[in-house]
Amino acid sequence: MKPVDFDYERPATLDAALKLLGREDLNAKPLAGSQSLGPMLNLRLVQPELLVDITAIPELASIREEKGFLVLGACVTHAALEDGGTPDPTRGVLARVAAGIAYRAVRNRGTVGGSLAHADPAADWVSVLAALGADVVVARTGGRRTVPAKDFIRGTFETALGPGELVVEIRIPALSANARWGYAKICRKAGEFSHATGVVLIDPARKFARAVIGAVSGPPIVVDDAKIAERDPGEAWVSALFAGTPLGDDAYQIRIHHVALKRAIAEARAP
Ligand SMILES: Cc1cc2nc3c(=O)[nH]c(=O)nc-3n(C[C@H](O)[C@H](O)[C@H](O)COP(=O)(O)OP(=O)(O)OC[C@H]3O[C@@H](n4cnc5c(N)ncnc54)[C@H](O)[C@@H]3O)c2cc1C
Repeated sequence: MKPVDFDYERPATLDAALKLLGREDLNAKPLAGSQSLGPMLNLRLVQPELLVDITAIPELASIREEKGFLVLGACVTHAALEDGGTPDPTRGVLARVAAGIAYRAVRNRGTVGGSLAHADPAADWVSVLAALGADVVVARTGGRRTVPAKDFIRGTFETALGPGELVVEIRIPALSANARWGYAKICRKAGEFSHATGVVLIDPARKFARAVIGAVSGPPIVVDDAKIAERDPGEAWVSALFAGTPLGDDAYQIRIHHVALKRAIAEARAP
């Protein structure tokens, strides 16, 4: 199958892109790395009248440090973070996570903003940015707003984005010198989408201690718990968190997510 006919624009400024995306007389969709949108177009799961390619907008590709934050433009690629030629106040989290996404050809084009906007529950940034306490900045013509990454994903392929809105940047708090983290992604082959994700961040200087369980067929489960480093969570602890989620009381799912969380805690505890 091939995509429906669509028009294509590649604006050079954010204002021009937002203007096109804000048009109410046609169905316009942003295009970033095309790693998820391309297949969806070919399967006709999406049938836009206009694709707005946002990869020529310089501010969306920028990486900068700003008052205790690392600010990633939405179009920063997984490969740029994997290569680590940029400031990294997360002390290795970003490069480690990026390197485990798919394979290099996908990482060369796939973007952090595109991954969040696509909102596949099994995607890596969806869980990791929530664990880091990052914020997602979204813009539309005439305004910007900030949404905590933990609240940005509303469900499977559902986000907090409204009509005509674009993810423009992701603001990641710098970790303190004594912060510790752990990350575990369980999948059958390296680079595959996750079957279970555990992420733990403990940053005592900022009084921040968070565990995230991801790849749960919905928004990641976020637990703020000052004692997470000392915890030895049993399956019952994970099972209680699953209540009311799409995975419910599925014993296999509880078990693999329990293993992912335990691995992340163990890594965060390690000296
Ligand atoms: C073989 C393969 C394996 C993969 N494995 C993994 C994996 O292990 N882990 C993982 O996390 N991901 C994986 N991915 C997905 C990959 O990370 C994609 O890069 C990502 O899902 C989408 O990013 P993109 O830039 O390609 O977005 P696109 O495909 O261009 O867009 C995806 C969606 O987001 C919208 N969009 C894009 N940018 C924005 C924006 N700035 N604001 C608002 N909406 C926007 C588009 O309209 C579209 O709906 C894999 C992909 C492939 C093809």
